[in-house]
Amino acid sequence: MGLESARIDQLRDLLEKKGLDALIVVSPINIRYVSGFSGSGAVALISIDKSWLLTDALHAEQAEIEVKDFETVVCDANPIKYVADLVSDFDRAGIEDTASIGFMKELTSHTSGKVHLIPVEGIIEEMRAVKDEDEIESIRAAVDVAARAFLESYSMLRSGCSEREFVSELIRRTVISGAQGTAFDIIVASGERSSLPHASFTDRQFLPGDVVVVDFGAVVDGYCSDITRTILVGKTSKKVGEACRAVGRALDAAIENTKPGIEAGALYEVARGVLEEHGMADCFIHSLGHGVGLEVHEKPSLSKGSNSLLEEGMVLTLEPGVYFKGEFGVRIEEMVVVTKDGCEILTGKIERNPGA
Ligand code: ZN
Ligand code: ZN
Repeated sequence: MGLESARIDQLRDLLEKKGLDALIVVSPINIRYVSGFSGSGAVALISIDKSWLLTDALHAEQAEIEVKDFETVVCDANPIKYVADLVSDFDRAGIEDTASIGFMKELTSHTSGKVHLIPVEGIIEEMRAVKDEDEIESIRAAVDVAARAFLESYSMLRSGCSEREFVSELIRRTVISGAQGTAFDIIVASGERSSLPHASFTDRQFLPGDVVVVDFGAVVDGYCSDITRTILVGKTSKKVGEACRAVGRALDAAIENTKPGIEAGALYEVARGVLEEHGMADCFIHSLGHGVGLEVHEKPSLSKGSNSLLEEGMVLTLEPGVYFKGEFGVRIEEMVVVTKDGCEILTGKIERNPGA
């Protein structure tokens, strides 16, 4: 049994539990997850005993190569009409609630009340949160490629080099190292700009005493990595040293407590508690982390108050950070896979606060 068909069986069980006869899948990432089809512009329909992939002539050959367990329907016009025809045979069909208003309107007009369309939230996203061994292998490869690219680019990170030059080198080395591309727009924020958690790069040159936050990742086999390191250029201030120690301790505490059964929100509190001991809890202005897989941000979210329970096979980032407005910021982001009784760090090959 192929991977996709195992996923479809799991999905069918979930549909039956929800009392649905079928599910219309519109998210390209979710379509890829259940069918293997990696193109765009398709719609999938999965019923209790059959699955269809509706695409256009442009993607017909790709679908033939990639899709095994679905009947592929090549649509010569708008696929929504075809979806409407197929789905009209059912009584209750779920539709992903990320479908656009335009899609819903058109589908409703073509089905003209023959089927109850029920918006469904996050059903495949929940399945995607727990990775199988093949997925974990792809993520390991995405981590290795990004780590290699970072370590190779890092030698050019010295005073005088600009954020732009560093980013372009990191992108080049990520691709040369075997990635399909970067997993997101790389963040390189130096000096006082490092207090902006999501800064994009500028022409600013690195200066002695700078803190440089580098947040980067690669895509391999469709799977992402997401890593952050805070580089210290030359001699930095005492306050920077304290912040690095606090963030490192918060990260260690989060890693120690990552195991099946813990609530995501409780893990966030563990990290925040350590920063509190350093008087820096108010400088921690984002969540502790998130799932990573086909998308760089997936379920679960390790945010304040989240009651998602961690499970074996989840791949997560743990990324505490502290930000001092107009001065500097420090963030370190590791990726871990949740194991039977703890977690394994995937990103341990790179020093957390390398010097330059
Ligand atoms: Zn990141
Ligand atoms: Zn992240």
